[in-house]
Amino acid sequence: MSGSSAGIPPAVFVSHGAPTLLLEGGPAVSFLAGLGQALDKPSAVVCVSAHWETDAPSVSAAERPETIHDFSGFPRELYAMRYPAPGAPGLATRVRDALAKAGLSCAIDPGHGLDHGAWVPMKLMYPAADVPVLQLSVQPHRDPAHHLAVGRALAPLRRDGVLVLGSGSAIHNLRALRWGADKPEAWATGFADWLDHKVAEGAVDDLIHYRDRNPGGTRAHPTDEHFLPLFAAMGAGDAAQGRRLHSSFSHGNLGMQAYAWG
Ligand code: ZN
Repeated sequence: MSGSSAGIPPAVFVSHGAPTLLLEGGPAVSFLAGLGQALDKPSAVVCVSAHWETDAPSVSAAERPETIHDFSGFPRELYAMRYPAPGAPGLATRVRDALAKAGLSCAIDPGHGLDHGAWVPMKLMYPAADVPVLQLSVQPHRDPAHHLAVGRALAPLRRDGVLVLGSGSAIHNLRALRWGADKPEAWATGFADWLDHKVAEGAVDDLIHYRDRNPGGTRAHPTDEHFLPLFAAMGAGDAAQGRRLHSSFSHGNLGMQAYAWG
């Protein structure tokens, strides 16, 4: 799978699931492993992860980003996992400059490593850890339109083979997780169907106002942070209409959908 123009990667949103995703297997794991092979190998990845929250945009610039185990109470083998991909300090500067051009200030953080929103999907997509990766934070107190603008500022980087990867969750209500359940409930499939249609139609305004335009919006996302990376990817794709790459659920109602634009 290539972008609309040769060598230009699409912008992609993936759902990263529970921290245990790598131990679980299942359709989302197979999808992410195949996605890395289906895309032309990018020159670098800018990962907008739901798990790095800051007041204003920050971009990570570590040369050798550490693997952050930003979860607790999970199996020991997860804490032993490392993802030793190189960072991309030069690209971090370009990300900051691209955002500045769009009127968005962006801090450079030389120390931030890779949280599990970044390293779990990257480990599946690029197991050899040979694609440089950096992270861009989300601002949970800012709305989806802000994240769309952040994404739009990143769009020109794609022309240099940079993959903009939003990593969150299509549906993320931790109180509605059902460990061991294999089927989602009707409200979750209803929101996923709505999301599929709105992405395909390029209904950007409906998506930005998803809480008001869909009766299940607040149940699907009691808080915004896992949905915000979708808007960054949509903006970076430079195309209103997107396409669904994958759909499944894990732990009952956790949406594992993935989409691409551009
Ligand atoms: Zn998460």
